[in-house]
Amino acid sequence: MRIAMIGAGYVGLVSGACFSDFGHHVTCVDNDASKVEALRHGRIPIHEPGLPDLIARNVAGGRLSFASDLDRPVAQADIVFIAVGTPSRRGDGHADLSYVHAATRSLARALDGFTVIVTKSTVPVGTSDEVERIIREENPHADFAVVSNPEFLREGAAIRDFKHPDRIVIGVDQERARQVIAEVYRPLHLNASPILYTDRRTAELTKYAANAFLATKITFINEIADLAEKVGANVQEVARGIGLDNRIGPKFLHAGPGFGGSCFPKDTLALIKTGQDNETPLRIVETVVAVNDQRKRAMARKVSSAFGGNGNLRGKSIAVLGVTFKPNTDDMRDSPAVPLITALQDMGAQVRVYDPVGMPQAEKVIENVTFCRDAYDCARGAHAVVIVTEWEQFRALDLKELASIMASSVIVDLRNVYSPEEVMRNGFHYCGVGRAMPLAY
Ligand code: NAD
Repeated sequence: MRIAMIGAGYVGLVSGACFSDFGHHVTCVDNDASKVEALRHGRIPIHEPGLPDLIARNVAGGRLSFASDLDRPVAQADIVFIAVGTPSRRGDGHADLSYVHAATRSLARALDGFTVIVTKSTVPVGTSDEVERIIREENPHADFAVVSNPEFLREGAAIRDFKHPDRIVIGVDQERARQVIAEVYRPLHLNASPILYTDRRTAELTKYAANAFLATKITFINEIADLAEKVGANVQEVARGIGLDNRIGPKFLHAGPGFGGSCFPKDTLALIKTGQDNETPLRIVETVVAVNDQRKRAMARKVSSAFGGNGNLRGKSIAVLGVTFKPNTDDMRDSPAVPLITALQDMGAQVRVYDPVGMPQAEKVIENVTFCRDAYDCARGAHAVVIVTEWEQFRALDLKELASIMASSVIVDLRNVYSPEEVMRNGFHYCGVGRAMPLAY
């Protein structure tokens, strides 16, 4: 199969590289010419474990290439995936579909012969209908079919997720298109990955429902964590106690600083808007978003309470470890670290920052902080270390060394990666999430 992948970001690049690894011929097209130039020179613009090798292997095999102009790749393609961004529209929370619409207009004019167009971007219900309408308007003689195929991969584990998905959801209304996309995913079908065929609107809604459900699960355990702190219980043990129930499952039950990232915040907002537009308010999801928003400031108050509370951190130097929204990615979009740092600064703190791979992105979005070389450089002279992202290298810090270089010994562990007893044995005041602690400070 010949594939054109429009958009070479986290989803387009990983999907394109994986499809080429299955043996298809893929051209990843991006209108950011500098990104395409970098890719052509073997420089990978995002941090995703395993991606550089996967790309290099398939470029060398002649199955993967990059282009900034879509005309030729689209004309030659059997199937075109739209994998451009769908951020929140400024001001109202609707999904901004301008990139999807622009890509659709451009590709419509380049179509040549029967082509399947797939919306892989996360798009509100009805967008595939709109894509079909735009193509008809731009190119009335085009022979095409539009399919919805939302993507469920997670950054940081994207290649594994793409190659071994829990399921593939395909919304398709035409038999001819179904045969083409079935052929594209055939290698996964042979791996026994379940493929769910449905209609386009159901596929579109399935993606939003999945993300809203996961965001709800995280927010639920975060509220239970708050209660656990008040009543002297341990949220990690509660999570284990409920997660072993097959009806609940153990994943997405880690209490922390609230969800962030490139998907959950914008997708929950977009789903709420779809509900409102259709006079079916989604009250649970609305509450999840509100609770999660409040949590960012609450985390800053947790830091100040380590120094006696009252939201005052004047004269305190705070070392923030980890700024990406989760480990193994350089993605800073809607990272909880950003509002947390702002709140710490509002309370008067001087903030020092270190992240293993997120520093170049962090420097673009975080202001008035000291960027540091490593975790120990960050902790030097600080009154507290705050663990915001659970990178592996933060899980086994040398506590004795930390104690010797910090101005005071406080660890605020927003990911619960440390055993409180171990940290306190080393003379620290420890503050985790959802684990009631004797105040030894
Ligand atoms: P991204 O911002 O990393 O990548 C989008 C790319 O599209 C950019 O490189 C941009 O330059 C390019 N682009 C925009 N308009 C274009 C056009 N007209 N022609 C060619 N290229 C164009 O975004 P992403 O994180 O890959 O997300 C893409 C979609 O996939 C979104 O709808 C997102 O919600 C969804 N999604 C993302 C993830 C994730 O983990 N990032 C997971 C599942 C689904």
